[in-house]
Amino acid sequence: MGLVVQKYGGSSVSDAESIRRVARRIVDTAQAGNQVVVIVSAMGDTTDDLLDLAEQVSPKPAARELDMLLTAGERISMALLAMAISDLGADARSYTGSQAGLITDAAHGKARIIDVTPGRIQAALDENAIPIVAGFQGVAQDTKDITTLGRGGSDTTAVALAAALNADVCEIYTDVDGVFSADPRFVPLARQQQVLTYEEMLELAASGAKVLHLRCVEYARRFDLPIHVRSSFSTKPGTWVVGDASNLPPIAAAALADVNGETPVEQPIIAGVAHDMGDAKITVIGVPDRPGEAAAIFQAVADAEVNIDMIVQNVSAATTGRTDVTFTCPKASLATALAALQAKQDAVGFESLESDEGIAKISLIGAGMRSHPGVSATFFRAIADAGVNVEMISTSEIRISIVTRADDAQKAAQAVHHAFGLDADGEAVVYGGTGR
Ligand code: ADP
Ligand code: ASP
Ligand code: MG
Repeated sequence: MGLVVQKYGGSSVSDAESIRRVARRIVDTAQAGNQVVVIVSAMGDTTDDLLDLAEQVSPKPAARELDMLLTAGERISMALLAMAISDLGADARSYTGSQAGLITDAAHGKARIIDVTPGRIQAALDENAIPIVAGFQGVAQDTKDITTLGRGGSDTTAVALAAALNADVCEIYTDVDGVFSADPRFVPLARQQQVLTYEEMLELAASGAKVLHLRCVEYARRFDLPIHVRSSFSTKPGTWVVGDASNLPPIAAAALADVNGETPVEQPIIAGVAHDMGDAKITVIGVPDRPGEAAAIFQAVADAEVNIDMIVQNVSAATTGRTDVTFTCPKASLATALAALQAKQDAVGFESLESDEGIAKISLIGAGMRSHPGVSATFFRAIADAGVNVEMISTSEIRISIVTRADDAQKAAQAVHHAFGLDADGEAVVYGGTGR
């Protein structure tokens, strides 16, 4: 008998019928002899709808109250799911994040889990009940206020609880069959991957592939917890995310042997192509070319708690002794970053600021890049042949990212996907959800 943590995303519980379908699946898992802990997201687009509603009431809602509002979404789905399971004859009990022991810091809207004390969940398991936990929420250790973990954070609740309970696997149920070589809504010929490493999945998630929340992958890596991403709409095997693809944990090895028979799992050279439309670009124009200027610029942005991603500095013009510094940050932080820089204009001595929200980031990710020469050449040839202009470039050991015009993003992603031979024979299935 194993302990399985299952997380169901919003598209898997979007209406009464889907809630009953998911309940059936949970009860089947329990009846197969497993202990099951369930994490559930808000129904369908509830979180977005609540955000829209808040905006209509107040243009700048207080962060504490916004978190209180948003956590209501998961309370609805957890209670409904528990009711549906009870009707199937099993004992199900719903818990808020706070009741389940998800202790966070007090950063509303992006709280970090600092401790997990799942006493009540363990007690429910000991009594053969199925605990249903509201995803994406916790309680702040200091203020005791209710917090949320950031959009998509139910994945992180699931992995954190799975680690704390020493589960065998964390299953993430969503509206596609697994992790694909690109977002199937953006690149329809994306192919499903059987296995990815934490390292690759981290780069994919950080580069915009929202199929898994970035912090859930960080958490899984820290505890070496296997994640199985799969569809709640089919019974197909999904994608395993593990530490080492050549030395699979037993549960993943057994599941993959069922699929592949004697054929070993092939570790792809390229894990996938990710796109991110959520960033904006800021250019600081006419920065004096002397030591300490970049430090002053990025200190101002850091003090405003804005995360930055790519950075480019132009060669300074000999005649003026000045240069331009360009960087990207989330669109949501653009106004904050601009205000922080504006306030430092005299101290830093730059001439002006420019911003641009019409950009997209395209990334190619794969651990095989380390040992396969020519990946960059193929990548940039594909981008050029697609007639797409590259505005910025950044790389890590296993990733190449570029910034392009937002209008060119899909063309660029599809061209790169094709150039690396990733195109599948047919279109990937997207079962539900609005992709919002
Ligand atoms: P859930 O509501 O279940 O958490 P999400 O919308 O957060 O679902 O994540 C699933 C979606 O992630 C898919 O519908 C797909 O559009 C998107 N996605 C982005 N990149 C990928 C990828 N590489 N593989 C699979 N899905 C991806
Ligand atoms: N309901 C939250 C969101 O939409 C959390 C989640 O689904 O993971 O972001
Ligand atoms: Mg999600």
